[in-house]
Amino acid sequence: TPSEGRREPLGVTESLWPSEPITLGPETSARQLVLKKIQDLSISGHQDPFMVADLDVLASRHQTFLQALPRVWPFYAVKCNNRPSLLLVLAALGTGFDCASQGELEQVLGLGVAPSRIIFANPCKAVSHIQYAARCGVQLLTFDSEEELTKLARHHPGARLILRIQTLGGRSTFPLHTKFGARLLACGRLLQVARELGLAVVGASFHVGSDCHTPQSYRQAIADCHRVFEMGCKAGHQMSLLDLGGGFPGIEGSEAKFEEMARVVNAALAQYFPEGTGVEVIAEPGRFYAESVCTAAVNIIAKKASLEPGGHRKLAYYLNEGHYGAFRIFLRDPVPRIPIVVKELPSDPHLFPCTLYGPTCDAFDRLFSTEVQLPELDVGDWLVFPDMGAYRSTMSSTFNGFPITTVYDAMSPQLRSLLETVP
Ligand code: PLP
Repeated sequence: TPSEGRREPLGVTESLWPSEPITLGPETSARQLVLKKIQDLSISGHQDPFMVADLDVLASRHQTFLQALPRVWPFYAVKCNNRPSLLLVLAALGTGFDCASQGELEQVLGLGVAPSRIIFANPCKAVSHIQYAARCGVQLLTFDSEEELTKLARHHPGARLILRIQTLGGRSTFPLHTKFGARLLACGRLLQVARELGLAVVGASFHVGSDCHTPQSYRQAIADCHRVFEMGCKAGHQMSLLDLGGGFPGIEGSEAKFEEMARVVNAALAQYFPEGTGVEVIAEPGRFYAESVCTAAVNIIAKKASLEPGGHRKLAYYLNEGHYGAFRIFLRDPVPRIPIVVKELPSDPHLFPCTLYGPTCDAFDRLFSTEVQLPELDVGDWLVFPDMGAYRSTMSSTFNGFPITTVYDAMSPQLRSLLETVP
């Protein structure tokens, strides 16, 4: 069962690090490290974009999650950021992993993580990926349709299945309910069909949408899962696993929202799945863990100024990272993220409406659909974007021949020795 896997944290020996992490001293934050790197690069005449991943932030997010949601075992959503160093730290800290494909299963199993610590949480899977999971002993898989059950009965009859339900009525930046999740009304039949096919359904899951804005969405979904548990037991299944999915905020400053979500979740669990009923609760947080881990630094490689009617000055800055690189998801953010300008400026600089373009030859390659207010800057100046760890690097391409942005890992000696002493 998943709880058995929890007792198998992975030790991180030196040879496992993909590259030597930079040591964060007591007085060096990752932000300072970014500024130092910018200085070093500028001195040597280099302007390539880069990111710094602060692994201590990752460890502290894990602690925050466990403290706020003591009954919930996190299965980190690998799709959010699959950087090996992040996965290694989480493996050592004892999280489980939510994988969406054979590639992600291979990556996590390749680290030595036990299959019992993995959930294959994509309700619509290719047959060959299901067969791979079966061969590797990954038993927890989600489904939301009869067709998926037919494939699972044929290719993974020993699986322990989780029925993913649809969540309606809430708000999130990236809703998922149109693509995934069975309607509550359809669940009775799905559970019956699973039974007839000889499949074991062991629980229910949902996803309230990534970057959820409505904490009460969790309450409704947990109540709906309670209904599914009742239906499952009636159909002859042994229902014992509740999966809360992702949706928790990750950006710095969203702590109050997360705490409110945690309060809603804990209260709903106490009401619908009280302790002592033998139900294990897991979740699949992605951005909550990864978003604030990475900081990106990009350089202005070209600039154009224009005068609008009325004499208003507008600026276009061309950056060396953009939509086809690590910033693809920016265009779907509800409000543009204003970068930190790395330049000595007057205390109250005049701001201009600026369009931020990426480096490729495609006109669609811009960071935000609207203009942002920035001061007059020059070619060679640097911009820093914090909170760049979620759905950035994993979505990068090399379109137009621009390489994937280099990421430098950084961690304190304390965290490093903690990880290396895990048996
Ligand atoms: N689980 C599933 C099935 C998902 O599709 C996603 C994101 O799309 C996640 C977990 C992670 O969600 P989040 O990053 O909002 O925590």
